Amino acid sequence: MPISPLASDTIAAIATPPGRGAVALLRVSGPGAFGVLRRIAPGLDGIPPRTQRLVALRHPETGEVLDRGLVTLFPAPGSYTGEDTAEISTHGGVLTPQLVLDALLAAGARAAEPGEFTRRAYLNGKLDLLQAEAVADLIDGRSRALHRAAVHQMERGLSRRIEELRGAVISAESLIAYSIDFPEEDEPPVPPERVRAAVADVLRRIEALLATAPEGELLREGALTVLAGRPNSGKSSLFNALLGTERAIVTEIPGTTRDALEASVTLDGYPFRLVDTAGLRDTADRVEGMGIEVARRYLAAADLVIFCIESGREPGDDDRAFLAGRDPARTVVVRTKSDLHPVEAADEAAIAIPSVSIAATEGTGLPALRDRLLQLAFGHILGDPGEAPLVTRERHARALRHARDEIASFIAALDEQVPMELAATHLRAAAGAMEDLIGAVTVDDVLDRVFGDFCVGK
Ligand code: GDP
Repeated sequence: MPISPLASDTIAAIATPPGRGAVALLRVSGPGAFGVLRRIAPGLDGIPPRTQRLVALRHPETGEVLDRGLVTLFPAPGSYTGEDTAEISTHGGVLTPQLVLDALLAAGARAAEPGEFTRRAYLNGKLDLLQAEAVADLIDGRSRALHRAAVHQMERGLSRRIEELRGAVISAESLIAYSIDFPEEDEPPVPPERVRAAVADVLRRIEALLATAPEGELLREGALTVLAGRPNSGKSSLFNALLGTERAIVTEIPGTTRDALEASVTLDGYPFRLVDTAGLRDTADRVEGMGIEVARRYLAAADLVIFCIESGREPGDDDRAFLAGRDPARTVVVRTKSDLHPVEAADEAAIAIPSVSIAATEGTGLPALRDRLLQLAFGHILGDPGEAPLVTRERHARALRHARDEIASFIAALDEQVPMELAATHLRAAAGAMEDLIGAVTVDDVLDRVFGDFCVGK
């Protein structure tokens, strides 16, 4: 945990979102928090910590009563930030909380920056950096899967795993240091194979964590899933069926889905961004042509593609050409309108990628399609993401790749007979990368990036 000078100023913010609501919560944190509170609520003296007290909240200069609110005091270090902190519940809405905030500022507090409370919690050792990120995910997450991963991370699931790995690297380093300290021994007290085996085990475990990264990162954005296929192949109908609403305009005229429609949807708790594109075909129609350009851009960025071919229609050269250029691990072929025509085995054989038959009008085949999408987008982390640590941010993946590469370099150096004590610099670097990940030593710009995306009042 970082050792940092305690903040010298006192910050205040409204922690709840603006708008009509029964209550709003304000927070004040810093060495002057209780002094600021006493200036707007003079009757606070003697209230026990962590006990709510209903008091009149006044402007410190005019004495005007702005509201009556519930105040709770959390003396340092037993607060979220680790500093003296007060929470004030006022009536909700736009004006009352703002007037109380103005009073807090007039009483000597400063308006908090986004994420500043959590940043202080981190700097005071109440949270590590991975936990702080999990707090942001709990607030911003829209899928149950990300929520479960965030709760696990907030409970230090990922931090503990990284600490174990770092601990194993440091043990290997100390084994090497021990060998150096007893150079007069004929046999080195620690056989290099032992160090090598321990470090190779760490490497495997880092690889296992890294394997969760691509899908873990998708939990935040959602898997970009683009519907493609000829005009009239049933894309919009399928889009609507997957959304469960009638948001896209479904039409019988080929080529009228002019632009892309995007919608966020969770399937079984996992996030997807579904995109319905214009029919992919060459056309002289300029407006439709623009839609097709949009479709191409989406296809280039897609995590998954659902390619629609009507049941009973033999896949054409255009279909085959499209599918030939796609990664089967990221493509689902859907035979649409299965209520109208049974899919012939010959049709199936014509394309290499196995297909799912659906009838969007009746909903048949949708569960199978959903399962296929889940497998392709999140197959490595399906099950319960709350059970095992997941790598959910590029920052984590970058640090772990750095650690992995350093450990691999250490092993390669041993293979090349480099003396262990020299090769050990790689172990130091690997341990350092893992320390950065947890936030043991962190530079300000990393903190700015982590906390910059937070909301004010958190
Ligand atoms: P798009 O151009 O690929 O988006 O295709 P649409 O979704 O607009 O569908 C084209 C036509 O096929 C429309 O008349 C739909 O009502 C019809 N259609 C789509 N899915 C089904 C289905 O599952 N069964 C039947 N019978 N008709 C469908």
